[in-house]
Amino acid sequence: MSDLRSEVELCCACPLHETRKTVVFGRGNPAANLVFVGEAPGHEEDQQGEPFVGEAGRLLERILFAMGLSADDVYICNLIKCRPPANRDPHANEVVACEPYLKRQLALLKPTIIVTLGRFAAQTLLGVQTPVSRLRGQWHSYEGVALMPTFHPAYLLRSPQEKKQVWEDMTKVKQRLGLVSVTPTD
Ligand code: URA
Repeated sequence: MSDLRSEVELCCACPLHETRKTVVFGRGNPAANLVFVGEAPGHEEDQQGEPFVGEAGRLLERILFAMGLSADDVYICNLIKCRPPANRDPHANEVVACEPYLKRQLALLKPTIIVTLGRFAAQTLLGVQTPVSRLRGQWHSYEGVALMPTFHPAYLLRSPQEKKQVWEDMTKVKQRLGLVSVTPTD
């Protein structure tokens, strides 16, 4: 994994390398069964070099806590490793440039469950254009690994009424991990 990290840290395959401060590779436990895949680093992540350390990250930590887990029990990374300026959506050429790194990262991590956060990670790994609202809540398969799409925490910050659906999705994940129930927090 450290070889891949070093390679990604030197990446100039798309224009995002010109505006990034830091490459945001991933954090957490590389031996974890459960891997979360988000979209792309925001401002805080670009500054600190770690995924999900801003406001959306704090909500993700609360979701993990509700599952009886902490960030050290899982591995967290993004589809795109460099911050898109002004937190805009990733462009297609950026997804094409970065997707191979995520695929190699997942092949090294060998998780038993992948949770994708938001539309970009789910649609890219599953190779579909289906809206995340239709993908979420059901098990899919990525290279033989169980994949649960759910809403992105940044979306939940804007639409807190959707949190209930994420609790449902995380209950399914927890059950599959052999854990029991999810205690919702707000
Ligand atoms: N949103 C993401 O998708 N990833 C991060 O690391 C932070 C915010």
